[in-house]
Amino acid sequence: MAEVLDGRALAVRIRQAVREEVAAFVGRHGVAPCLAAILVGDDPASSLYVQNKAKAAAQVGIRSETFHLPAGTSQEEVLRLVDELNRRGDVHGILPQMPLPAPLDAGAVFERLDPRKDVDGLSPDNAGRLALGRPRLVPCTPLGILALLRETGRSLEGAHAVVVGRSNLVGKPTAQLLLAEHATVTLCHSRTRDLGRYTRQADVLVTAAGRPGLVTGDMVRPGAVVVDVGITRDGGRLVGDVDFEGVRDVAGWITPVPGGVGPMTVAMLLRNTLQAARIQLEGENR
Ligand code: NAP
Repeated sequence: MAEVLDGRALAVRIRQAVREEVAAFVGRHGVAPCLAAILVGDDPASSLYVQNKAKAAAQVGIRSETFHLPAGTSQEEVLRLVDELNRRGDVHGILPQMPLPAPLDAGAVFERLDPRKDVDGLSPDNAGRLALGRPRLVPCTPLGILALLRETGRSLEGAHAVVVGRSNLVGKPTAQLLLAEHATVTLCHSRTRDLGRYTRQADVLVTAAGRPGLVTGDMVRPGAVVVDVGITRDGGRLVGDVDFEGVRDVAGWITPVPGGVGPMTVAMLLRNTLQAARIQLEGENR
């Protein structure tokens, strides 16, 4: 029976550490790190995410501001707001809440962000730095995944890590981080033929597809570490990509949904906001 990797408990420890570091930062500079969230439209899930992030920020002493733009806001108006927040010295992190409603172009928004304020790590500059092995601000969910993997105490060096999903937000940066830890990495996606052939070889299996029930017990190597990033709303419930009960009998470690990667993403956003503030006030190489 697999051990459960408790993302909630680890996130609490990380948030506590961030709170102490924020207090020290305020002591040095007399200002708190500040996160500006950009929310466009009225998607209830996005509004809830932004509210939760603001609440979590307040709990660790990070100031936050939310810019709520109406549905139908033009690309130019969003970019104007980004320009203004880029210029503001009292704003250290900028978080455009995804997904932006159509026809807004999220890629163009991230290109416009000052990379030193890009706490989601999705600007071309930050994504390129990660790919080159010179990371600065790294996407929050992949950082949370790596922190959970470290909790197992197992070395990633030489391990075969299989990542299901190749998005810029989760799959690709997770693969980059695993590679930097010297894992042998296989990246799978919707066109992968016979997914189980790859997942069965995984010492570490990370699924970020958003397809409930995608990974079943027969697709997992005995003793593997399984990290389920998927979040799909099923009525009032949140479900991952992994058949938890079936895989739990086979795996060595497994993350639950909810309570696995989700809380880690928020904790890493807080850490990235503090890091962004340090980059801006204490120099490039923090
Ligand atoms: P995305 O942009 O929709 O990417 C999904 C990826 O999964 C794509 O690369 C897709 O392949 C692949 N995929 C889809 N169906 C597949 C299948 N049947 N077999 C193999 N691969 C398949 O989503 P995302 O933004 O990366 O997010 C992925 C999931 O993680 C979602 O459920 C999302 O809600 C969740 N998420 C959770 C957190 C958290 O904090 N826990 C954070 C971010 C995202 P193609 O590229 O070929 O289309």
